[in-house]
Amino acid sequence: ARQAGHGTFRFFEAAMDEQVQTRRRLELDLRRALAMREFVLLYQPQLNLASHEITGFEVLLRWYSPQHGIVPPSVFIPLAEEFGLIGAIGEWIIRTACREAAGWQRPLSVAINVSAAQFGASNLVPVILSALGESRLDPHRLELEITESVLLKDDGSALDVLRMVRQIGVHVSMDDFGTGYSSLSRLHSFPFDKIKVDQSFVRVGPSDASATAIVRAIAALGRSLGMAIIAEGVETAEQFDRVAAAGCTDVQGYLISPPVPADRIADVVREHSAS
Ligand code: C2E
Ligand code: CA
Ligand code: CA
Ligand code: CA
Repeated sequence: ARQAGHGTFRFFEAAMDEQVQTRRRLELDLRRALAMREFVLLYQPQLNLASHEITGFEVLLRWYSPQHGIVPPSVFIPLAEEFGLIGAIGEWIIRTACREAAGWQRPLSVAINVSAAQFGASNLVPVILSALGESRLDPHRLELEITESVLLKDDGSALDVLRMVRQIGVHVSMDDFGTGYSSLSRLHSFPFDKIKVDQSFVRVGPSDASATAIVRAIAALGRSLGMAIIAEGVETAEQFDRVAAAGCTDVQGYLISPPVPADRIADVVREHSAS
């Protein structure tokens, strides 16, 4: 038994060792990824239900690592935050997205995800101002998507930043709405322009009556506050019809289009053009 226990420990130790090694490699490669141009921005369209046209795109970051393959943002963004890299990466995203959007044929909106860590790690307001200045993008076309976590343990400074960017004319959306602990009080503390209904209430089967009731309630709430309500993660025609009937104003999801590279944007807009 002692033998086995010892062997188990040795195995465990080796596995731990390997994990630490993998993390170290990831950290080193992540540190180099910006300079090596391994980050790419993909764009996912948002469809307005009144006009049936694409009104904007959400920016979704990808890391194409020669060493690790395609690393999903759910894996590398937390690491970037932990390693103190999120400020620099976030700044690159904002500058690149503003520059690319400024070149689009139509003045569609561009929505950038900003994590809680980015609020602490960078001078968000100066970065946004300078990105807008150098790209000459109309501030009204820029949208920031934040989750509740940004406001959760906030001393008021994140709210100050949000108020300032909104004064510039930048729009602010509440992402993943309905998954936090006190979503309603967040809506009360800041005049969001848009609510993004979390996928967990959207990507459900036709018989999920409670999810449908929740989407309907969120839509009614958003409407009464004068906010747009977009349903995320719409994959099927049935889900599309359901969120439309529930009162959402916009939809996003694989049914419309997966996130696409920048050079596909014009095609996606044309495919969904009413005329
Ligand atoms: P999110 O902001 O909630 O983004 C939506 C996620 O759902 C994206 O995953 C998108 O590709 C995926 N998605 C869109 N439509 C559908 C659908 O119909 N079905 C399914 N199954 N999924 C759909 P992605 O790109 O892997 O991003 C995951 C998360 O990583 C994002 O969640 C966001 O929190 C974060 N993230 C992505 N890009 C950035 C970025 O540039 N900056 C920051 N700070 N976070 C980012
Ligand atoms: Ca988002
Ligand atoms: Ca979301
Ligand atoms: Ca999310």
